[in-house]
Order: sequence, then structure tokens, then C-alpha cells
Amino acid sequence: MHISIPDYIHSVLATLRDAGHEAYIVGGCVRDAILNRRPADWDVTTSARPEEVQRLFRRTLPTGIEHGTVTVMEGKNAVEVTTYRIDGVYEDARHPKEVTFTSSLTEDLRRRDFTINAMAWHPEKGLQDPFEGRKDLERKLVRAVGNPKERFTEDALRVMRAFRFAAQLDFAVEEETCAAAKELAPNLKHISAERIRDELQKLICSPHPEMVRELYRAGITALILPEFDRCMETPQNNPHHCMNVGEHILATMCAIRADVLLRWTMLLHDIAKPDTRTTDDQGTDHFYRHPEVGAETARKILRRMKLDNRTIKRACTLIRWHDMHLGNHAPVEEQIRKGMHAVGREDFPLLFEVVAADDAAKSPRIAEEKKEALRRMREAWVSVCARGDAVQISELAVSGAELISAGIAEGPLIGEVLTAMLEQVLKKPELNTRETLTNPSRLKQFLNTAQARMKKKDGGEG
Ligand code: ATP
Ligand code: MG
Repeated sequence: MHISIPDYIHSVLATLRDAGHEAYIVGGCVRDAILNRRPADWDVTTSARPEEVQRLFRRTLPTGIEHGTVTVMEGKNAVEVTTYRIDGVYEDARHPKEVTFTSSLTEDLRRRDFTINAMAWHPEKGLQDPFEGRKDLERKLVRAVGNPKERFTEDALRVMRAFRFAAQLDFAVEEETCAAAKELAPNLKHISAERIRDELQKLICSPHPEMVRELYRAGITALILPEFDRCMETPQNNPHHCMNVGEHILATMCAIRADVLLRWTMLLHDIAKPDTRTTDDQGTDHFYRHPEVGAETARKILRRMKLDNRTIKRACTLIRWHDMHLGNHAPVEEQIRKGMHAVGREDFPLLFEVVAADDAAKSPRIAEEKKEALRRMREAWVSVCARGDAVQISELAVSGAELISAGIAEGPLIGEVLTAMLEQVLKKPELNTRETLTNPSRLKQFLNTAQARMKKKDGGEG
């Protein structure tokens, strides 16, 4: 078996070999190379002790030296070089209390999580595969190295990693490994929210986001995302739908491109349906206000999962607007402008992707109708953009500074006047000229609206 490795990796292996040490590429890069996938990074494992690695290379960083990892800089490339090690007793289902260095490659491979991640390779020595990872690659199985219960007891994050690798590689989790994962999933409570989030995010951004179903079956979502379990148990007896809420969510994730923001958005877009479900006299289910409630629920979930504020804000806005179906009560372009105002010019086109994915997972009977509605939305959006209609206060023909210098308004009233102006402009874009907006009778209306709102706010606060 041959693996093509970059020159800088050859050079790291050679330096270690020439100094009399063993050195192999190991883990994810070997797995990915055998599968003809592009490895994310190349990790090296060696019999050399960390101090020796630091001595042998000109530029190194002690990135994880207590666990035996030294980062070697080869030009612009960073290579993690880790000394063969055995992990000591695990504390709290998380970290080994101590690690011991060893001179045996097999011992180092034994501490790794799955057989497919426990292979090493060297240009001259070839593949080292004591746990038959290659066979499992062929069988498309994620199998724990050794006793799965012990391995998941040592480190509960491996429970998530098993399903994450299965989703990324289109593998199954081997039976005994799966049973142990299910049994030991409760230990995930010892794992930090960030580490769980990273694994869940990799899983939902993989080619198989529907693997979340396996997390549900294994009792993992019950621990990390119980809101999803309720979705799996909420039917949708409604002509628009043909699946329960959870299955619909899975189908929408599969129907959208593998983008972090979009996949989180789809995972949570209908999360409030269990809470907003009502059934009418005919037995039809309704989910009134689920986008509004869902945006709030999603915010709580994403905060709990420690996503960054920007992603949280963008996902919640898309969730709030995901149901933007064009009713007959207002002209399409007006609704588009309002949507663009709420979602923002940059993110607004994402809403088309969200709506298309949502529709793709609805009843096939209404598919054509939905496609037509989406086509009309896009068309209206193109016209609104082409005309350059204002959708933000900054795009009004009148600025706050002008209102001040003309002595029309000051302080917080300025914002309220501009908001009142924009509301009218969103309805009728042709109003957006200085003459029209500052026409005395119109201006009076804007001022009245603005003052009334200020009063209401003051009253509300007081
Ligand atoms: P990715 O493509 O996500 O980087 P990877 O297999 O390289 O996949 P890493 O998290 O980068 O995964 O870890 C590198 C290697 O270290 C793994 O292949 C595995 O051998 C080992 N490893 C990582 N995390 C664990 C863990 N929690 N328990 C046991 N071994 C682990
Ligand atoms: Mg890696």
C-alpha cells in the first residue's frame, strides 16, 4: 500500500529516522488517505521523547507537551509530532490523569478511539494495522479499539465521535460499539458544551446530517438536545406535511448545502413546533407562531451550546423568517422589502435556500405550488435589488444629521422619525426622495408617529 505524503512530512519522518527513532504518520490522515480523501492534517507519531523532538527541529512549539505533543514548524506548515504514549487512568470520563511514554507503536495505537483511526504508515515500513482498521474501512464500520464499554467509559466524547465519523464517512457504527455507546451516553454530562458542540457541528455539516436520527435512537439527543426528541415525537397531521417534525427537520438538513449557519438553522427551524401545536375540529394540526417562538428557543439552545454570537443572531433571524410565505394581503415586493429589512441585505438570499430546503421536505402534493411561490419571491427580490429600493435606515434619502441641522428633531426622536419614514418607504419605495419625505404635511405625520411611539415607550418603561 502506498500513500502520497507531502514533502515536508517526508522531511519530518526522515529527520526522526536519521536520529535513530521510529516515526510514522498516524490516525485520521492514514484513514483518509486509504479512503482517497484529502487529509485535513498530517499527524506524526514517534518513539522519540518530546525533548528530543524539540532538540531535533529548529522551530517547535510545546503545544501539548504534557501529553507528548510538540508542533514542528516546517516552513509555513505545522506538524503535530506526538510521542508514543499510553493513557493512564481516566478521570471524570474526560482526561487521562497522566500519560506514560512507551517505545511500542502498538501500545500507542491501542489508546486510540476507533480501529479506523488506529493505523500508522511509513514510506519504507508500510502500514501498521494491529487492530484491523483496514478491514473495517472496507466494511464501512466504526468499531472501538478493544472493549467498547471500557473505551467509552474512559472518554465519553468518543460516543459522539463514533456517530460523527459514521456521518462523515457514510459508515455504520458496529453493533457492539453502538450498544456500548448507547449504554454509556449518560457520561456525556461530564463533557464540556464546546466539545459536544464541535462534534455535533461536524456531524450536521457532514454529507449525512440525518445521522442525528441515530443520536436520537441511542439516547444522545435526549441528553444534549432534548428539544429534538420532542420533535421526533410530534406528528404533523396537515396537508402540507408527510412526516413528523423530527423527520422533516432531518430531511431539510439533507436538502441544504453543508454550511455551518444553514445546517444549524435547519436543525432548529421547527424546534418550537411541539410547543405551538394545536389540533382543530377536523383533526388538522396547526403550529401558529412557531417561527417566532422557535427563534427564541433556538437562541437558548445555541447559547447553551456556546456558539458565537454572530452565528446565533443570524441563525435565529433566519428561523424567525423561514416561514415567509407570501400571503395575499400585501404585495409580494413589499413583503420582500420587509424581509430584507429584517434579515439584512447580505443574509436575505440565504432565506431562499432555507425555504427551498423546507419545501423539499414537505408533502410532494404541494411541491409544484411551493416552487412557484419561491420563484415569485426570487423574481420580486431581483426587481427590488435592481431598482435599488431602500430597505435600511441608512438608505433613506434623508439622514439623521439633516434632521438635526434642519431643527426637525433631536435625541432619540431622530431614530423614531427615521423609523417612521422607513416604514412608509418599505411600503412605497417611490417616497424615498428628500422632497417627498420632508414635504411639510408628510413630515408632520412622521413626527406624530414618532412622538406617539416615544410616549408609549416612556409609559412602558415608567
Ligand atoms: P479529523 O478529520 O476530524 O481531524 P481525526 O481522526 O484526525 O479526524 P482528531 O480529533 O484530529 O481526529 O484526532 C487525531 C487522532 O487522535 C485520531 O485519529 C485518533 O487516533 C486519536 N484521537 C483523537 N481523539 C481521541 C479520543 N477522544 N480518544 C481516543 N483517541 C483519539
Ligand atoms: Mg485530525
